[in-house]
Amino acid sequence: MTQPVAEPHFLSRDRFCSVARTLEILSDAWIFLVLRESFFGARRFEQFQNVLQLPRNTLVIRLRKLTELGLMHKVSYSAGTTRFEYRLTDRGLDLYPTMLALMKFGDRWLSDALRPPLQLVHSKCSHACLPLVVCSSCKEIVDAHAVLYSAGPGAGSEPRAHDRKRSRRTSDPLILERVRPCSVARTLRIIGDRWSFLLIREMFFGVRRFDAFEANIGIATNILTDRLQRLAGHGIVERRAYQSRPQRFEYRFTPKGRDLYGSLIVMMHWGDQWLSGGRAPLILRHHPCQQEFFAQVVCSACRQTLEPRQTTYQLRYALAS
Ligand SMILES: [Zn+2]
Ligand SMILES: [Zn+2]
Repeated sequence: MTQPVAEPHFLSRDRFCSVARTLEILSDAWIFLVLRESFFGARRFEQFQNVLQLPRNTLVIRLRKLTELGLMHKVSYSAGTTRFEYRLTDRGLDLYPTMLALMKFGDRWLSDALRPPLQLVHSKCSHACLPLVVCSSCKEIVDAHAVLYSAGPGAGSEPRAHDRKRSRRTSDPLILERVRPCSVARTLRIIGDRWSFLLIREMFFGVRRFDAFEANIGIATNILTDRLQRLAGHGIVERRAYQSRPQRFEYRFTPKGRDLYGSLIVMMHWGDQWLSGGRAPLILRHHPCQQEFFAQVVCSACRQTLEPRQTTYQLRYALAS
């Protein structure tokens, strides 16, 4: 087992981070739900509104935002009318592996019942399947301990002001599970909070101690205490004493916490592709195959990439009428 190389200058809060940028988009509850419904096939304003039961103006704002972000585009659906439908762009479609990775985590760890709410079926191989996060080079499942990091061409400082002036977002947990029970929504409830996410990211870089979290992400002490307690409450981290006099603690991932890694590196790849102008801030190298790689999401049955148009769902619950 090789520990990730955690060089302090990569860990600075001022560095670009593709995952944070991706999560920032997805953790707006309404944006996420509209995207999810478009992966389910919704295209028209009324379709989104009927399924999500959201106020008209809320939907107008989110569709506009999704269009501005380049995730959807408006297409007139019959000649000579002003009626539009909203279709995913390539950039939007490319979020599909992120959805799958988040869903897999939620299915494994956060489903109430034994069976997850959705069963994926890969129509290309016609098998029921699970999404797997694998190395793009050797196609083996990627474990957090087996990845080495180095600064990529897009590494560099990002103006801090960007982070401070944040628009108001909706991440109400109740909104997130509206209409469909959803493993992705459950996962976002844990990592969709900005500080919780930053803590998780730091931990994947090998940071374990309170003062190091404070120094690296510039978090206030009371917020840090609260988020570590929350993550412990969700079973993501556990506290261990590393010194007895005076008693001091460090925070480590539980197996459940470590399993978030797949989702993070899938989001990182999307952010690298679409939000960093192709200049990845961080290069990942897979220790077992010694190759640079990005995270791919493949079918557990045939190991081919899962594409939205080749994947269907069997719902294991009744749709709300
Ligand atoms: Zn590999
Ligand atoms: Zn398959």
